[in-house]
Amino acid sequence: MGKVYDHLKVEEPLYNLWEGRGYFTPKLDKKSAPFTITMPPPNANGELHIGHAMFITLEDIMVRYHRMKQDPTLWLPGADHAGILTQVVYERELEKQGKTRHQLGREEFFKETYDFTMKHKNHMVDQLKSLGASCDWSREKFTLDPEISKAVYHTFKLLYDDGLIYRGERIINWCPRCATALSDLEVEHVEQAGKLWFIKYPLKGSGFVSVATTRLETMLGDTAVAVNPKDKRYEDLVGKTVILPLMNREIPIISDDLVDTEFGTGAVKVTPAHDPVDFEIGQKHKLAEIQVIGLDNKMTKEAGNYRSLTAKQAQVKVLEDLEKQDLIEKIKDVTHSVGVCERCRSMVEPLVSKQWFVAVNKKSKSGKVFAKDALDAVKTGKVKILPKRFEKVYYNWLENIRDWCISRQIWWGHRLPVYYCKEIKTDLCKKLGGEFVSVETPKACPNCRSTTFEQDPDTLDTWFSSGQWPFTTLGWPQDSEDLKYFYPTSVMETGYDILFFWVARMIMFGIYCTDKPPFHTIYLHGLIRDEHGQKMSKSRGNVIDPTTVSEKYGADAVRMALVFGTAAGNDTNLGEAKIKGMRNFSNKLWNVGRFIIDMKPEKHEKAVVESKLGKVDKWILEESDKIIEATTKNLENYRFSQAAEDLYDFVWHKLADKYIESSKNRREESQPILEKVLRTSLQLLHPFMPFITEDLWQKMKEAGSIDKKESDLIVSNWPTAK
Ligand SMILES: [Zn+2]
Ligand SMILES: [Zn+2]
Repeated sequence: MGKVYDHLKVEEPLYNLWEGRGYFTPKLDKKSAPFTITMPPPNANGELHIGHAMFITLEDIMVRYHRMKQDPTLWLPGADHAGILTQVVYERELEKQGKTRHQLGREEFFKETYDFTMKHKNHMVDQLKSLGASCDWSREKFTLDPEISKAVYHTFKLLYDDGLIYRGERIINWCPRCATALSDLEVEHVEQAGKLWFIKYPLKGSGFVSVATTRLETMLGDTAVAVNPKDKRYEDLVGKTVILPLMNREIPIISDDLVDTEFGTGAVKVTPAHDPVDFEIGQKHKLAEIQVIGLDNKMTKEAGNYRSLTAKQAQVKVLEDLEKQDLIEKIKDVTHSVGVCERCRSMVEPLVSKQWFVAVNKKSKSGKVFAKDALDAVKTGKVKILPKRFEKVYYNWLENIRDWCISRQIWWGHRLPVYYCKEIKTDLCKKLGGEFVSVETPKACPNCRSTTFEQDPDTLDTWFSSGQWPFTTLGWPQDSEDLKYFYPTSVMETGYDILFFWVARMIMFGIYCTDKPPFHTIYLHGLIRDEHGQKMSKSRGNVIDPTTVSEKYGADAVRMALVFGTAAGNDTNLGEAKIKGMRNFSNKLWNVGRFIIDMKPEKHEKAVVESKLGKVDKWILEESDKIIEATTKNLENYRFSQAAEDLYDFVWHKLADKYIESSKNRREESQPILEKVLRTSLQLLHPFMPFITEDLWQKMKEAGSIDKKESDLIVSNWPTAK
């Protein structure tokens, strides 16, 4: 054996050996319950970052542990097409060539983006493999695979027929740069310095009421002023009328509980077309929705004299004009929260638009309610969230959830399976407005047999397809063998930052489509920060690239560093020093192995002989039993960090520092004990450090310290204490 462990020579051949011998592909054994994890599909088009390395490590630990327990174990890998994000990336690519997507046309743009994405996907797969991910590549899926797309359309039709998908004119978040609607989750809120303007709205008759706003230009679309019914200051004003400055429109003063008495003067302007809360107030009071800012971020003709200006220009001019009329009471500097597009960071404009929605609080014809069913699944304990404190966060989100806008005005993704009949030849077709949904590309309108129809140009929200991932990847809606055997899956392991985006939606879709929550346990991990606790970002230059550090220190060291000192749901600090420390641990383990395998005495007992044991032998064997029990318990209870820390301590301090030191003068007697304890250590450490442990295991077999007929470590039997 070499003096130092050379991970570069070991890792790739071992991975190929495991994969080649079919260990990642489980056998469907009806007599045993399977253990299944669906891998959170990384963006096919992106580089793996250290957050991916985290989920790979944690999931691979669980998967390797269960595989060694001889459970039929499936870890199903896949990749996501990442709708808006990928479209933004490829549009930038085109920009460099001086082209736009419109010049290519929809079909060609889709084809080029597809090829571009596939090229990157292979790279992503190589990165996953280099970290040791023992997932079943024979079952790999991509969200745009034909059978997955068909399943997604099938769900769309189920929901549509069930009255849970509808097209409506509602307020949505509009990104002017991406030119698409966004769901509430795709908008990030950032603090920004701004102004709070207090404007005097003249009352009809005499006097005025002052309202405050950070969005001056939207006043052109006001259709009311509102106060809180409990606000004594304004009791007398409710029911009166004000004249909207600059527009000379008479608008009512109304009262509504949604008004925050603490904001500004307590009297607020109501712009239903450009603010979600105002939209709600407007719906209740039947106010007009006057859209003054258009999809292109320019003022519409409804904005009168301000028409065609950009929103920013309109703001300047509105201020000038109000000042001329002495209608600005005062101006305050404030920091306020502004919504930006999660993908391109442009400021998002709330506006009313015709989009497709999933009704999340409505009872379906089949008696299901998306949000409530998902809420109950956790409340009744059918699904457990670890750490438990996230249950409250989950409840709070689902209790306040609004209808989910699922249509995006982009080209990359699943185009809506909605069609509009052009002829409308029957009453039925007319009653439905010519609209119909079809899973397959239709040949004719099902309601009037017309062959003239158009497909809706919109594309589904990426999370609409990834929300169905745990069962579409197993063959749903077909009643496939995989679906019957592996579904519901066991554990969903992912970052807490996508609890709503993804996890909650998987539970909603799972219960709706299959009547079962898609997994029984959710394990959430935290974010990885740099060694000083700062967020990692390219601009800070503190990003740790998992591939680079893995090449430098070995995948095992990276994995150990990620899991060490990391509790569920907590953010972790990671610096190169920590990874280097774990590389030292790899070397320690290597030296322990070398001492036992290479410097093996000529003569020794083959197995441990109870009657010949000394005090220190008995001690290490007892410690070895204790660590088997502790590790098993920790893994069963998702305490991965504790398991890793105990094993580190056992190998370094008990086995190496104490027992090996004491055995140096009595090699023949101690050899059977050394072999037994090393064997156990390699097995317990395998889920955490798969490469070095398997390599040492193979070397023990070659040296006869382990029977040559025994299996490879990856599929050996998980040890039990005696
Ligand atoms: Zn955007
Ligand atoms: Zn028709």
